[in-house]
Amino acid sequence: MSPEMIITNLSKTYPNGVRALRDVSLSIGRGMFGLLGPNGAGKSTLMRTIATLQEADAGSITLGDIDVLTQKDAVRRILGYLPQEFGVYPKVSAEGMLHHLAILKGLTNATERKDIVEGLLQQTNLYTVRKKHLGGFSGGMKQRFGIAQALLGDPKLIVVDEPTAGLDPAERLRFHNLLSAIGENIVVILSTHIVDDVSVLCNNMAIISEGEVLLTGKRIDVVAGLQGKVWRKLIPRTDIASYRQELNVISTRLLSGQSLIHVYSDIQPDATFDAVEADLEDVYFATLEPQPTATGAGG
Ligand code: ADP
Repeated sequence: MSPEMIITNLSKTYPNGVRALRDVSLSIGRGMFGLLGPNGAGKSTLMRTIATLQEADAGSITLGDIDVLTQKDAVRRILGYLPQEFGVYPKVSAEGMLHHLAILKGLTNATERKDIVEGLLQQTNLYTVRKKHLGGFSGGMKQRFGIAQALLGDPKLIVVDEPTAGLDPAERLRFHNLLSAIGENIVVILSTHIVDDVSVLCNNMAIISEGEVLLTGKRIDVVAGLQGKVWRKLIPRTDIASYRQELNVISTRLLSGQSLIHVYSDIQPDATFDAVEADLEDVYFATLEPQPTATGAGG
């Protein structure tokens, strides 16, 4: 069983003056935690800091009794990390590379290592291509290989940065299935800008933007909190700007040549609007949008 991660008032400003993290505080328990935010929100900065690859300026991170920011070796012993940019040696086979990485992780017993590597290749559906050079792998295969290497050494903490960006829908589905099978007994932190990744995989989540945590909680609770406050209407595309002036339009989508707008409002704006069953995408956009007209905004 894996302990909880507590992040307290974590801040980071890069030398160029960009404040990538501002007083970030989060509690992350076992299971899959989704860190959702647009590009530039600070997700990778937070993930690299948790993975001990980067220093923070202020604040603390603990995982059970490990002080993550100072006890880096202790973290690395229990960490599996899949970075956003996962470089591979193109001329090495998947199997060869896993053996190499397994040795680096201390799996020196050859028989034991062979079993573990085979198991991971099976689990990530790469067994049939295990002799193939990594350079010839598709994006989805590389990501699955990335998960295989992150699972080496039985990690208690897994950090996965933007895993499905650039994957086609079939590869994404396979990747989702693989991640969801990793188990509820360890801490898995998944950063993504894709709302659907969090909807499908994560029971607990946070929304982060411009280095700040805007919302955190159980996914079902944050979605429930928005029920009865999202309204939709089909309008001509040319009317979007005027609706935006009057109402808190959280999203617009093309539908048969017209625009379907979702509006955040405590009351029905007028009889031409229909109630929407809010989903995580509505939560995401309502949280990110500035909310000039709404009362009790945010969530
Ligand atoms: P995300 O992963 O959510 O896209 P990042 O953590 O990569 O966000 O970036 C957060 C902000 O910090 C962005 O404005 C980015 O340009 C900036 N940033 C990231 N890395 C560096 C760096 N090494 N030096 C300077 N600025 C950086």
